[in-house]
Amino acid sequence: MKIICVGRNYTDHIKELENNKPKEPVLFLKPDSSIILNNKPFFIPDFSQNIHYELELIIKISRLGKHIQEKFSHKYYDFIGLGIDFTARDLQSDLKSKGLPWEKSKAFDGSCFISKWINKSEFNDVNNLNFNLNKNGKTVQKTNSKMMLWKIDELISYISTFFTLKIGDVIFTGTPAGVGKVSIGDNLEGFIEDNKIFNLNIK
Ligand code: ZN
Repeated sequence: MKIICVGRNYTDHIKELENNKPKEPVLFLKPDSSIILNNKPFFIPDFSQNIHYELELIIKISRLGKHIQEKFSHKYYDFIGLGIDFTARDLQSDLKSKGLPWEKSKAFDGSCFISKWINKSEFNDVNNLNFNLNKNGKTVQKTNSKMMLWKIDELISYISTFFTLKIGDVIFTGTPAGVGKVSIGDNLEGFIEDNKIFNLNIK
């Protein structure tokens, strides 16, 4: 399986990193080796002094598809969750300034946290979902999926014009404002509509 991530999908986060608003979604991939398995904690790697959390709404692809029309996108996923796109911001800034690919800063082992999955039928409207991240009990990121520049159905359609979507693939839909550093001993908790979806420790 593969993980397809969307960058710059919330205006407030684009401003925060002083990026330009893109005309099309920014896409990048994480390999399956980046996933944190078996409820393990996130271990801060030696190669970065500035690991950031990025809370994102995620979806799991349930059907094989390519060139999916937006009106059919909803048939290609059943489950929603929360993910953290851990980012070595110091490495990423360096790579970006040199015009180089981001992979070392975004796709390293442990950079992909995936919560438990919830059937989308449990929600009235996936385009109107409140979700938030608490760090050490304090809310640091809080948004609603209606704030996305490109909605889930648009993303599935757009992504599938470049990458065949396979069963089990995961899409990270981008992070809102409020990204920040994690340190050893921190605790992260994710919520959708006030339901706690995950609890993750930083080691
Ligand atoms: Zn991200």
